[in-house]
Amino acid sequence: MRASYLQTNPLSRRLLYLLLAFLMSVGIAPNLFAAPPANQAPATPVTAATKPTAKSQELRANTSLPSLARQLALGVNRIVIDPGHGGKDWGAISCHHVAEKDITLILARALKENLEAKLGCSVILTRTRDQFVALDERTRIANAAKADLFISIHANAHVDPSLSGVETYSLNFAKDQESARVAALENAPSHKTLSELKPLLQKLVLTTKINESAALARQVQRNIVAKLMAKGDKVRDLGVKQAPFHVLLGAEMPSVLIETAFITNAKDECRLNDRQFQQNLVKGITAGIESYLMEVKRVAKAGERS
Ligand SMILES: [Zn+2]
Repeated sequence: MRASYLQTNPLSRRLLYLLLAFLMSVGIAPNLFAAPPANQAPATPVTAATKPTAKSQELRANTSLPSLARQLALGVNRIVIDPGHGGKDWGAISCHHVAEKDITLILARALKENLEAKLGCSVILTRTRDQFVALDERTRIANAAKADLFISIHANAHVDPSLSGVETYSLNFAKDQESARVAALENAPSHKTLSELKPLLQKLVLTTKINESAALARQVQRNIVAKLMAKGDKVRDLGVKQAPFHVLLGAEMPSVLIETAFITNAKDECRLNDRQFQQNLVKGITAGIESYLMEVKRVAKAGERS
């Protein structure tokens, strides 16, 4: 009855619309004509088919990348890459004012990208920009993240500009003068003296991480040199060494420090700035980590059989 009255009486209809418009403007009636905010998705019902479950997300993650770590089932899920120096600590500086801290960040970013693509594991950087991070803090980041491996990236320096080459270190007492010199160079930002580091190091020598780190250093060094040589880059192989690096001291996982090249050598400095060299170096490190994982698997299998 009322409806037919409204339909037949245009004045009453107009009054009703005006009343509705007034109620909407003061917020008493819902605004029936407003579009949803741009950042709010239209409210569509989430059905079982569209709702992402933890299982489907896991499956997607498993199939999206050919994860070597997963294939080997070694549980290497997280790697921490440490770009040496940063902020007020420039590290070594070349005669062209190229700072080690900038080179290490470029290499670390490229290595993160390569490792994530190749191994399908997550990679954390101890710094992502030009900022100072204390040496203790770097390993603390790796320990807190429960990382499986810790890789510290550096560039070497020497007063003799003719010295060049790549070398990989694991933590231990230095066995030669040159290793002790490099450790002193890299430990410069630390407030701890070598005598303070010594008891910490002695304790660490008793754990297996020293041997695992040495094995990782061997594979990384071998693969870096092999990759660069294969690409026609005749780098000097300075081999695998051991020294008491403060930055490796607190790491609860296998850890190595790579001196990628001498920033104080003209040819090495060019290499460090060359994108192709950076890519080949990063591929070499990744291949080294893969080789290490396979070596661990072989040892584990042999252990199962015996
Ligand atoms: Zn350094």
